[in-house]
Amino acid sequence: MVDLGAQYDLIKNEIDEAVHSVVRSTAYINGPEVKSFQSEIESYLDVKHAIPCANGTDALQIAMMGLGLKPGDEVITATFTYVATAEVIALLGYTPVLVDVNEDTFQIDPEAIRAAITPKTKAIVPVHLFGQSAPMEDIMKIAEEHDLFVVEDNAQAIGADYTFSDGTVKKTGTIGHVSGTSFFPSKNLGCYGDGGCIFTNDDDLAHNLRQIANHGQSVRYYHDQVGVNSRLDSIQAAILRIKLRHLDRYNTSRREAGDYYDAAFADMPQLKTPSRAPQSSHVFHQYTLQLLEGNRNELVEKIMAHDVPAMIYYPVPLHMQKAYKDDRYSEGAFPKTEKLCAGVFSLPMHSELTREQQDLIINTVKISLK
Ligand SMILES: *Cc1c(COP(=O)(O)O)cnc(C)c1O
Repeated sequence: MVDLGAQYDLIKNEIDEAVHSVVRSTAYINGPEVKSFQSEIESYLDVKHAIPCANGTDALQIAMMGLGLKPGDEVITATFTYVATAEVIALLGYTPVLVDVNEDTFQIDPEAIRAAITPKTKAIVPVHLFGQSAPMEDIMKIAEEHDLFVVEDNAQAIGADYTFSDGTVKKTGTIGHVSGTSFFPSKNLGCYGDGGCIFTNDDDLAHNLRQIANHGQSVRYYHDQVGVNSRLDSIQAAILRIKLRHLDRYNTSRREAGDYYDAAFADMPQLKTPSRAPQSSHVFHQYTLQLLEGNRNELVEKIMAHDVPAMIYYPVPLHMQKAYKDDRYSEGAFPKTEKLCAGVFSLPMHSELTREQQDLIINTVKISLK
């Protein structure tokens, strides 16, 4: 699905030098590379505070810990997402309230959010799924009306732009009160291990988040609150500094590959190519098609039998997962998500995909459909 080797080959000299330099420096934890990466990603996203941490799940957890919610408070998120989004809500003792998505864009549906709000609702967690922004203007409006926090899950859309109706353009992950992203190797900005980062424009919240990520420590060995230990290590920061300089190019390559797939599948009535979400650019974390007629699992098996990778993101919605089953939701509760989970499949998508590789993938899909 990705070709991390080909990507490394193109920046090998820079990366090798940076890694060796951290190893020689022995500043493996909280070294100068972490500080530099922090300020560079703050300027890239145009956000006041970046707080690097150990992975994207931690980023979301720490972001939510920083808001001071109480057990039993309700947090609204989409049922069509990766499990981490709801996991941290449940882990902290808050109640995940799941809602349906828009079946064209795969993004959380603002009307469904409105319908799910109760007096206990304290936050909304929009997920910028597959590389596009959730409808943030509507979401921020709802949040303002009901005095709710907005925590963006930006693990899949770093670098995407969202344009408000007054023309203001902001990067995803800088619009809500706080956001989290992941630097898992296959993400659009991936390191060579685990990594993550929290972002906010709020000075007090940033101070609190830094403390939480560092054992709740205010001064060394003085702990003001129960925190966690979550750090981005210096080698990963050094790698990310280099890859951040290439991020726009990586995202442009993905977008071009997405457009190329779109054109190739435009005349296939059985397939629905991914719609573009209004007001958002698309950084194609995933290229996700919907099979409109026929058996999706069989199709994916046929494609893979030709040695072409294909994946299903995601086969089971959160409300039908064993761990998140709840009396509030039965099968059929979220028809759009359930339809998507039965019909979606994703094709290889990365920044080094060649047109020859795409032609092979496209032909394999077409043959497999027959
Ligand atoms: C990858 C991902 C995460 C978690 O990131 P990790 O670094 O793997 O912990 C969270 N949410 C979404 C939507 C993701 O895709």
